[in-house]
This record gives sequence, structure tokens and C-alpha cells, in this order.
Amino acid sequence: MAKGILIYAQTDRNGILQNVVLELAKTAQDLSQKLDNCEINAILFTDGTNLEENKNILSKNGFNKVYIANSLKLKQYSTEYYSKITVDLIKNITPEIFLIGATTQGRELAPVVATTLNTGLTADCTKLDINEKGQLASTRPTFGGNLMATILCKNYPQMATVRPKVLKKAENEIIKNTEFIELDFDLSTIEKHVELVEFIENKQLADVRIDEAEIIVAGGKGMKNQQGFELLQELAQVLGGSVGASRGAVDMKLADSSIQVGQTGKTVVPKIYIACGISGAIQHTVGMSGSDKIIAINKDKNAPIFKVADVGIVGDVFEILPKLINKLKG
Ligand SMILES: Cc1cc2nc3c(=O)[nH]c(=O)nc-3n(C[C@H](O)[C@H](O)[C@H](O)COP(=O)(O)OP(=O)(O)OC[C@H]3O[C@@H](n4cnc5c(N)ncnc54)[C@H](O)[C@@H]3O)c2cc1C
Repeated sequence: MAKGILIYAQTDRNGILQNVVLELAKTAQDLSQKLDNCEINAILFTDGTNLEENKNILSKNGFNKVYIANSLKLKQYSTEYYSKITVDLIKNITPEIFLIGATTQGRELAPVVATTLNTGLTADCTKLDINEKGQLASTRPTFGGNLMATILCKNYPQMATVRPKVLKKAENEIIKNTEFIELDFDLSTIEKHVELVEFIENKQLADVRIDEAEIIVAGGKGMKNQQGFELLQELAQVLGGSVGASRGAVDMKLADSSIQVGQTGKTVVPKIYIACGISGAIQHTVGMSGSDKIIAINKDKNAPIFKVADVGIVGDVFEILPKLINKLKG
């Protein structure tokens, strides 16, 4: 019988555990309570880098067991290696639920595992719960973000991917006497179709990091042109923040899609989000409404962005922003 929750403990290229793993771990605690306090386990791929640190973090985030696939050949992500080892583990321990972060890697791994196991996968969820029948109820935006759909899965494991930063990490440590189990596997039996030849970091993207920024100054179509975005850049610099954009601005080629916020962009939760010339369509607000404080500047007093804003300024961005920048430069 299927039992327990399994989480994909994704690490980055330097072996650093991704925050989304801890966000999933916290939600798994809530789900477990509704499933007779079932076990919460993880699968971790490693070449040994940062392993002790990761074990330490996982043991403070409520994991009962961590299954470790350790090999120098697992340093780089490989869909063939990672999915085969994951599928074999799932067949062995038969978890009821398997959760993965909706990262680039997670979005590749999850469908391969789901199709191999002939089970369902709800992608890009924003909320997870257990319904009255004990099934995983995975909620995600649908119909262009205008509706939220709660989806059930008939087969096991019930699988879902969840976007980073949508769920919250545990505020306090959940210390468990975690058992670490080394997995036995034979990579030579796995047919590998793709070989990583070289990793070239996109420096431009690495500098942006709006998903880590504490202050975001975001612009929409209302910023009109490059000069408008230069104003945002200036304000962001004075505040020590990053620039973000609506899809409207990206479509107008005012900003790169790597800094788009929203349903098809990034989910951000900064301390301060300043929305300039952004109308506040649901597909945008779904990616920023978790910000601590939202300040909106829009010349239309009925713009929907004011519904999610803590502070609303009705006015022209081209008048307000230069004044604000001058004042801050003081
Ligand atoms: C499937 C799907 C996915 C999507 N994903 C995303 C997403 O990830 N992110 C996203 O942002 N959108 C997304 N969208 C698009 C979304 O529906 C909106 O079209 C988009 O957010 C609008 O961008 P905007 O607010 O910049 O433009 P607009 O809606 O055109 O708003 C511009 C605003 O600027 C104001 N304005 C104009 N001039 C000034 C001025 N001088 N001073 C002050 N205010 C001014 C106007 O009053 C207006 O409110 C998606 C849509 C679909 C269907």
C-alpha cells in the first residue's frame, strides 16, 4: 500500500540545497498531519559536495529518511540517471505522494518520472492540501490565470510540482532523528542519450536575480520606452534593489523576459515591490502578491493593481519617479 511523502531534494551545481526543498518540507508537515502523520522522506543526488551540510539541513527540516544517490557521475543533472534512480526508489518504497520543485530541473524530471510510473502530475501548483478522502488536492492557476483549479490524481504516487517561493519554509527547526540511507544503483545499465560537454553561465541572468531581491522596482507598459526603464533602473540603484517587468513591458521589448514577474515569469516575494505603470492583471499579481509591502504608481485610479497595493499613488510615473529619485538621492 502506498504510504508516505517523498520530496526531491534538489541541489544546485555547487551542491547547495535549493530553498524550494525546504518550502515543500514545511507543506509536507501539514499534509502528513492529515495522513496519520505519515513519513516525510527525501531523495538526494550528490557527488559528495556539501553532503554533510545538506544532511544537517534536512535533519532540521523534519525529514524521517533521506535516500542518497552518491556518485561522481551524478554531479551534473542527467534526466536518464536521475529519473531511473528515482523511479526505482519509488517502486521500492511506494510513496503516496511525490513532490518536486517547479524549477527548470524539476520540470524536466517530474514528467519523465510520472510517465514512466504511469501516474498523474499536476504542474506548477500554488497550493497543496489533503481532501476529505485523503487524496492530494493540488491547486494551480488555469485558463490564463483567471481560475484556480484543484486537481486530484487517481494513480500513485500522486505527483505535483510547486513553484519556488510560493510556499513558506518552516520558521523554526523541525528536528528529526533522520535516517540517511545510501542507495545502491548501477549506472552502467542506464542508457544515457545526452552528455554535458560544457556549462556556460549566463552572466547577465546571474546578475539579475530578481527572485532573490529584497526590493523590486517593476515597470509595465505605462513606462512606455527605454527612458522609462532607465528611470526604474535609477530608482532600483538608489534603493539597492532590482528591476522587474510585466509581460506587457517584455512584449514591448522594454525588458528581458528573465525579469518578467507573474504566471509565466518569476514568483517574487521581496520586502518592497514598487509597481510602476502596471495595470495589475491577475497573471501579474499572482507572481508578486506575496510581497511584504506593495507600492503602486498608476495614472488610472481604477487600475486593479491598487487592490493588492498597500500604498497607492495615482499619478504619472514620469512626474513621480524623478521626484522620488531626487528625494532619495537627497
Ligand atoms: C496565459 C497568460 C500568461 C500571462 N503571464 C503573465 C506574466 O507572467 N506576467 C505579466 O505581467 N503578465 C502576464 N500575462 C499578461 C497579462 O494578462 C497582462 O496583459 C499584462 O500583465 C499587462 O501588462 P501591463 O500591466 O504592463 O500593461 P497594461 O495592462 O497595458 O497596463 C499599463 C498600465 O500603465 C498605466 N499607465 C500608462 N501610462 C502611465 C503613466 N504615464 N503613469 C502611470 N501609469 C501609467 C495604465 O493606466 C495601465 O494601468 C499573461 C497573460 C496570459 C493570457
